[in-house]
Amino acid sequence: MLDYLSLEADLEAEERLIRDTAREFLETEVAPDIGDHFENGTFPTDLIPEMGEMGFYAPNLEGYGSPNVSETAYGLLMQELEACDSGLRSMASVQGALVMYPIHAYGSEAQKEEWLPKLGAGEAVGCFGLTEPEHGSNPSGMETRAEKDADGYVLNGSKTWITNSPIADVAVVWAKDRSSDETGGDAVRGFLVETDRDGVSTNKITEKLSLRASITGEIGLNDVRVPEENVLPGVEGMKGPLSCLTQARYGIAWGAVGAARDCFETARRYATDREQFGGPIGRFQLQQDKLAEMATQITLAQLLAYRLAKLKERGDLRPQHVSMAKRNNVRMAREQSRVAREMLGGNGITTDYSPMRHLANMETVYTYEGTHDIHTLVLGHDLTGIPAYDG
Ligand code: FAD
Repeated sequence: MLDYLSLEADLEAEERLIRDTAREFLETEVAPDIGDHFENGTFPTDLIPEMGEMGFYAPNLEGYGSPNVSETAYGLLMQELEACDSGLRSMASVQGALVMYPIHAYGSEAQKEEWLPKLGAGEAVGCFGLTEPEHGSNPSGMETRAEKDADGYVLNGSKTWITNSPIADVAVVWAKDRSSDETGGDAVRGFLVETDRDGVSTNKITEKLSLRASITGEIGLNDVRVPEENVLPGVEGMKGPLSCLTQARYGIAWGAVGAARDCFETARRYATDREQFGGPIGRFQLQQDKLAEMATQITLAQLLAYRLAKLKERGDLRPQHVSMAKRNNVRMAREQSRVAREMLGGNGITTDYSPMRHLANMETVYTYEGTHDIHTLVLGHDLTGIPAYDG
């Protein structure tokens, strides 16, 4: 596997073991059927508990049954998952970074004890409801409302593009708490909403041509009553959802490298196997140029990912660092998966080979967790001090 600058030589034995175990599981249990799942628009739901056993869901958290692995090991897991399919990494990102992380960081002791062990083991599935039909890149404009009454809160609103909502047991729903006096009823709070509560609907979105091996849906909230103890007590404001997104984007920066690496390895193999004009196509300089560029771009993205892990470990990682890596690494994977697809000729457009599937998936990864454009604006803001989000 491509590791041109021997970055893996610096891995701890435990990190290597975690990576190798994950790789073997994915290659034997998941990869053989992933093309079919993509074609059929399904997720291998029977593997959700097994993925929990493998430690794919927030293994970098401390306590509540989590193995508390290093940030590098966590990144390597995301890389292996996405080398198989972005749908698998999305499952792990949502369950771990977007559901378990906010419960761990902002939840009450009771919420942590109730949900973290089950979610970590894949015995329960969670989803993260931030995006709304009219508020994607600007989630602070959200219209979902929570009204306080004597028994707790009543939620109304709708969320869309929610990974796993149709199969989730619990949704972390971000809504504006109208009872918060200081902010004029505008404080964003996180609510744990069990999906079997009256008034919750979770329709599946079926028209996707990207991230097909992942289940995506809506969350409708129609006078949904939740008790006070379902509010995440430890956070108010957009810091809540945005801090979760930083965690997930960190995993995406690693994951995108995995997808690109799989495309590269597929193209490299194909270039040595496939013969035209009396020999392997890998002897043509045009094809070697593509492989050289692909390997270089992947290596640069690997360097970014490994550096993020170091900064995260010592508490120096800023959200803007993550924006730079998510923006760069996903763009890289999107561009390089296209090159790999091209190198496979006609075979490249089939599900028999991975690059076209990765290429299609990258359209989602480029768009969710902050679009490429939005991360450009985050960096522009950081570099100049001038915010340019509203033009
Ligand atoms: P818009 O915000 O309408 O953007 C449209 C275009 O305008 C984009 O190109 C964007 O870059 C550009 N644009 C917007 N604002 C600016 C600006 N200020 N300057 C320049 N350009 C701008 N959300 C969740 O909450 N939970 C999930 O689990 C989840 N899973 C998802 C799964 C899938 C498969 C997909 C496709 C999306 C998912 N999302 C999820 C939603 C995702 O985060 C949003 O799609 C994303 O934030 C973009 O929002 P939007 O689609 O409304 O696009």
